[in-house]
Amino acid sequence: MPETIGFIGLGIMGQPMALNLAKAGHKLAVYNRTSGKTAALEAAGARVASSPADAVRDANIVIIIVSDSAAVEAVVTGKDGILETLRSGAIVIDSSTISPVVSRKMACLAASKGASWLDAAVTGSKHGAEKGELTFMIGGDRATFDNAMPILKQLGKKHIYCGLHGLGLSAKLAQNTIQATMVEVFCEGFVLATKAGVKPEVMLEIIQSSMARAGITDFKAPFIFKGDFTPYFPLKLMHKDLELAAEFGYAQGVPMPVLGAVKEVYMAAKAQGKGEQDYAAIVTFLEELAGVKVRT
Ligand code: NAP
Repeated sequence: MPETIGFIGLGIMGQPMALNLAKAGHKLAVYNRTSGKTAALEAAGARVASSPADAVRDANIVIIIVSDSAAVEAVVTGKDGILETLRSGAIVIDSSTISPVVSRKMACLAASKGASWLDAAVTGSKHGAEKGELTFMIGGDRATFDNAMPILKQLGKKHIYCGLHGLGLSAKLAQNTIQATMVEVFCEGFVLATKAGVKPEVMLEIIQSSMARAGITDFKAPFIFKGDFTPYFPLKLMHKDLELAAEFGYAQGVPMPVLGAVKEVYMAAKAQGKGEQDYAAIVTFLEELAGVKVRT
């Protein structure tokens, strides 16, 4: 059934997600802080809203996917934020990776307007968003999750209910801790092997034949070998997630010593100006230290 959807955030992830919903025949109003990014959605029949409040004034479903906690707070509680016009009964699906604590606060504010909030973090990157094959990790009220499923199914192939508000994000921060660490360690190993004289393609064959094989490194290896760091997931956003995970781990009383070290490697690469590149560009930071390039 076509829904009236307010969509906020047309970045790497939001743009293809919103396009999929427009193509599925929903009535869409879109908002992006930088107006230049709305052309494709307008061409697909969406109304371009002048503010977050304008995007959601008629919406029964609201989707948000912006950079970080501050961005979500800005589009929700800021001037012309969604709280000004959010309809009672609306469902807000926030797919931004943000602090679970901030997300719970947003859920309370939405409830004060009679609306429901799901933290609906995603994995699958740009390709998954384009193909409508994202995996969602969702926190919030179970009935709201069930009611949002028809829309969520048009954006993703797997939807995992994690429990109450904030638990989707808690899972997402754990997942990105693992993913960022795997990519960093993969890069360290490949820099070592290359420096010693083992060809990267030979090393990959070894890894792929061993228990160290992993989906994320299979996926990233060809990009690293070509030196192609086109941002599918910008390094600065991975670093943001590691900061969030460290803060969350501290609040939960969970020691995460490896996360502490890996986070600083991403921080150093970001400080060197690599933040806008894909997070696989972490390899170039390690390559520069070792004086070798992992290229085929
Ligand atoms: P992106 O391309 O950098 O897009 C970020 C979006 O947030 C843009 O629309 C940006 O608007 C908007 N924004 C930033 N600050 C804002 C503010 N203060 N007020 C209003 N809008 C603001 O990032 P992305 O890759 O799409 O990621 C979006 C979210 O999804 C992030 O939380 C990220 O961690 C998460 N995520 C990303 C991936 C991935 O592979 N890319 C995968 C899973 C989850 P402007 O255009 O005006 O800058």
